[in-house]
Amino acid sequence: MSHDWSKGTRSEYDVIVIGSGLGGLTCANMLARQGHAVLLLEQHYNLGGLATWFRRGEHIFDIALHGFPFGMIKTCRKYWTPEIADMIVQLKGIRFDNPQFSFTTTYDREDFTRILQERFAIPRENIEGFFDAAKNMNFYDDQTMTIREFFERFFPGRDDVHRMLMEPITYANGSTMDDPAISYGIVFSNFMSRGVYTVQGGTDQFIGKMRAELLKNGVDIRTRCLVERILIDHTKAAGVVANGKRIKSKAVVSNGNLLSTVHRLVGAENFSQSFLAQAKGVRLNNSSCQVYIGIKRGETIDYIGDLLFTSAAQKFDSQELCSKGTTSRTFSIYYPKTRPGSDMHSIVASSNANYDDWANLSEKEYRDSKEELIQRTLDALEKYVPGVRHKVDHLEAATPKTFQRYTHHLSGASFGTKFEGLKVSMGLPKEIPGLFHTGSVGIIMSGWLGAANYGVIVAHDVDKFLSAGAADV
Ligand SMILES: Cc1cc2nc3c(=O)[nH]c(=O)nc-3n(C[C@H](O)[C@H](O)[C@H](O)COP(=O)(O)OP(=O)(O)OC[C@H]3O[C@@H](n4cnc5c(N)ncnc54)[C@H](O)[C@@H]3O)c2cc1C
Repeated sequence: MSHDWSKGTRSEYDVIVIGSGLGGLTCANMLARQGHAVLLLEQHYNLGGLATWFRRGEHIFDIALHGFPFGMIKTCRKYWTPEIADMIVQLKGIRFDNPQFSFTTTYDREDFTRILQERFAIPRENIEGFFDAAKNMNFYDDQTMTIREFFERFFPGRDDVHRMLMEPITYANGSTMDDPAISYGIVFSNFMSRGVYTVQGGTDQFIGKMRAELLKNGVDIRTRCLVERILIDHTKAAGVVANGKRIKSKAVVSNGNLLSTVHRLVGAENFSQSFLAQAKGVRLNNSSCQVYIGIKRGETIDYIGDLLFTSAAQKFDSQELCSKGTTSRTFSIYYPKTRPGSDMHSIVASSNANYDDWANLSEKEYRDSKEELIQRTLDALEKYVPGVRHKVDHLEAATPKTFQRYTHHLSGASFGTKFEGLKVSMGLPKEIPGLFHTGSVGIIMSGWLGAANYGVIVAHDVDKFLSAGAADV
C-alpha cells in the first residue's frame, strides 16, 4: 500500500494553505505566528514551488535563484528570521552582451545613470526624470500607459536604451513593452534602489531554514499532498480534499495558479457571472526553458560575471525572446562562493518560452528539441567559457512542460498572470468568504520579493477574517 502522506492531520484547522511557493510559505508563517492553526499542503516532495533546486550527483542546481531586489532582506528579517535575511548577499557583476551594447554593471541607479550618460549620451535631466517617474509610480496611478509609451517619453526612438531597461525585467517577470508602465516602474525601481541580490548557501538551505521556522511556529507541513478540491459550504470556503481526504478549515489560501484555483479547485458554479467574466480576461504569463550545466569537479571557470544577459538578436523583441529558437538567454554562474565550503561550479541558462511551442510535440520531437536547446546553449556559452564542452559532466534541459509538471501551473506559467490577475486574486474573498489567493499575479506580485510580500498582505486579510469571527457567521 502506498504511503499516506496526510496521515495524522487533524480533522480541522483555522487555515489551510495550498502550495508552498514563497507566497504560500510566507503566508503560512505569518498566520502561524499570529496564533492560528495552519496546515500547509504541497503536492511536490520539496517546499519552495519555483524557488526550488534539484541534485544530480555532486551538483545542486537552483531553478529560480538568479537575482531579486534588496527589499528581500527586509522582508525576510521582518516576516522570517534574521538568520534567513543574513543569507542574502549582493551580486555585483551583472553583464550585458548583445549586438547593441556590451558592459558590466552593478545594476543600480547610480551605475545606470553613469552608463546612460557616458555610453548612450542621454542628457542627465531625461535620466533623472525617468528614474523619478518610475520610482513614484504606485498602484492607483494611470494604468493605461504602456511601458513602450513610458520609455518613449524619456528616450524617444532609442531602442538600444529601451532594450537595456527592459530585457532584465522581461526575464524577471515576463513583462513585455505592451504591459502597463506601472508594473514595470515598481519592479524596476525595486532593483535600481540597491542592485541585485542572491542567497548565499543556495535555495536548498534557504528553504530548509524556512521549513524549520514554520515547524517551530507550529505549522503542520505535508508534502506530496495534492489538493484536488476546495470545499464550499453554503457559499463559504470550508476546507479541502487532499489525496482523497476531506480536511475542514475556517479559511483556505490557495498559492496555486489563480485560474486553476478558480476553475479546477473551486469550480465555476460557485462564482458569480461577473466574477467569471473578469477571470476570463486574465492572461497567463509566459513560461521558461532552462539548461542546467554541471562543471566537473576539479575544473574551474574564470570570473565572467554573475548574471550574464546575452542575445544575438539585433533588437529587443518580446516575441523573439519567447520563441523556441531564441538566442536571448540569461546565464547564471554559480561559483563555489554560492555555497561556501563547496568547490563546485554550475551554470544555469534561462530563457523565456511559450508553452504552445513545446506542448504538442511528439515524444521524439520533444527529445530532439531539448537536445537542440542544450547544444545551442553550449554554442552561446563557448564565447564566454572557451572549451566549455570539455569541462561539463552534467547537462539537462527543462521546458514549459517541465514547469507545468512540477508546479501544476497552467501552461507552465513562470510568473503567474498578467496585470489584470491581481484584481481577480484580491477579489476572491468577496466572492467566497474565507477563500484567499496568494502568489505570483499581476507582475507586481511576482518574483521572490513580490510573492513573499503578497503572502504577508494576504495573511493580514486572513487574520482579519478569522479574528472577526467571520467564519462563524
Ligand atoms: C526559470 C525561472 C527563473 C526565475 N528566476 C527568478 C529570479 O531570479 N528572481 C525572482 O525574484 N524570481 C524568479 N522567478 C520567479 C519566482 O520564482 C516566482 O515568481 C515565485 O517563486 C513564485 O512564488 P509563488 O508564491 O507564486 O508560488 P510558486 O512558486 O508558483 O509555487 C506554487 C506552489 O503551489 C503548489 N501547488 C499548486 N497546486 C497545488 C495543489 N493543487 N495542491 C498542492 N500544491 C499545489 C505547487 O506545487 C507549488 O509548489 C523565476 C521563475 C522561473 C520559472
